[in-house]
Amino acid sequence: MSTVSPDAYADLSPMRLQVPLAEWTTLRIGGPAEYFFQPPKPEQFADLLTRLEMDEVPFRLLGAGANVLAPDGGVLGAVIQSGGLRRMFREENCLRLWPGVTLPQLVRSATELGLSGVEKLIGVPGHIGGALAMNAGSSDWGIWQQVKEVTLWLPGGELVAKTPQQIQPGYRNGNLGEAVVLEVLLELEVKPKADVKKEQEAYLRKKNVSQPVTLSTAGCAFRNPQGGSAGQLIESVGLKGWQCGGIQVSPLHANFLVNTGGATAADVRLAMAHIQKTVLDQAGVALQTELVIWPEPLPKTESSF
Ligand SMILES: Cc1cc2nc3c(=O)[nH]c(=O)nc-3n(C[C@H](O)[C@H](O)[C@H](O)COP(=O)(O)OP(=O)(O)OC[C@H]3O[C@@H](n4cnc5c(N)ncnc54)[C@H](O)[C@@H]3O)c2cc1C
Repeated sequence: MSTVSPDAYADLSPMRLQVPLAEWTTLRIGGPAEYFFQPPKPEQFADLLTRLEMDEVPFRLLGAGANVLAPDGGVLGAVIQSGGLRRMFREENCLRLWPGVTLPQLVRSATELGLSGVEKLIGVPGHIGGALAMNAGSSDWGIWQQVKEVTLWLPGGELVAKTPQQIQPGYRNGNLGEAVVLEVLLELEVKPKADVKKEQEAYLRKKNVSQPVTLSTAGCAFRNPQGGSAGQLIESVGLKGWQCGGIQVSPLHANFLVNTGGATAADVRLAMAHIQKTVLDQAGVALQTELVIWPEPLPKTESSF
């Protein structure tokens, strides 16, 4: 594949060129995406994925960019962002969501409808597609616990409906592989609105005092090791508040890396490598990354597109 003509996919999605990913990630880091799509409907999203695959255009998926480190050199190929796919439908005690429904939108609607099950997502930025890919939630709960069925696009263009039992998601890992979320049906419990709200508010109060929620971060950089806390480990080796280029280990929560202004993806990778080495050397624990790190692009050649 050589270059993509600006209107090659116009029937499926608007396309923009050279879109800075720093504007689409909560860390505010990332160079330009060569092609940037925001399909308006799940069917067009699926057809776009199939067509890009047929045209051998590499693509990456982006929700709210709240758990992604986008490369300084940007992305060669396409980034498909789910911001155009925001619809939600009630089916008795279930909610059917397109993948771009935001977590705040979901939490707010569940409260208004008196549906319980997603209270722990209060204050968590993201889109439901990204949340399923990450199995977003708390230390003892993930969004997949509420999933009845998910509709996925698979490489080759096949669309399949799967249950959580078939997917087997794990802690902070939706186990989706190359599958793409097109739609999901969440099963919730009918409860008095006041009870749903009260529970949400308790979680939100806890988050607001323990996390740097107003700063540029991407949530937890590392997964909690079994039975432990990555934040406490990082704090125990004296790295809380430590600075590396434009990145600071949050003085509030040591598992959050804050862009203090002008940080680069290289700063984040360096900081994370230093934290991992220090925690391994001093505490004997190998921290696994939770942040999804997109690789820096290789220089474009004649044979690449
Ligand atoms: C202040 C703050 C607080 C946070 N608190 C929490 C918390 O309490 N708990 C928690 O779990 N997380 C937390 N996070 C991290 C983040 O909010 C979640 O991981 C969120 O679910 C990411 O969703 P997203 O749409 O931003 O995904 P993105 O960051 O855009 O993408 C994440 C991954 O999902 C993939 N993806 C995106 N869309 C799709 C799709 N349609 N199909 C398949 N794959 C897709 C991407 O390619 C990427 O691999 C926090 C982040 C911040 C900034």
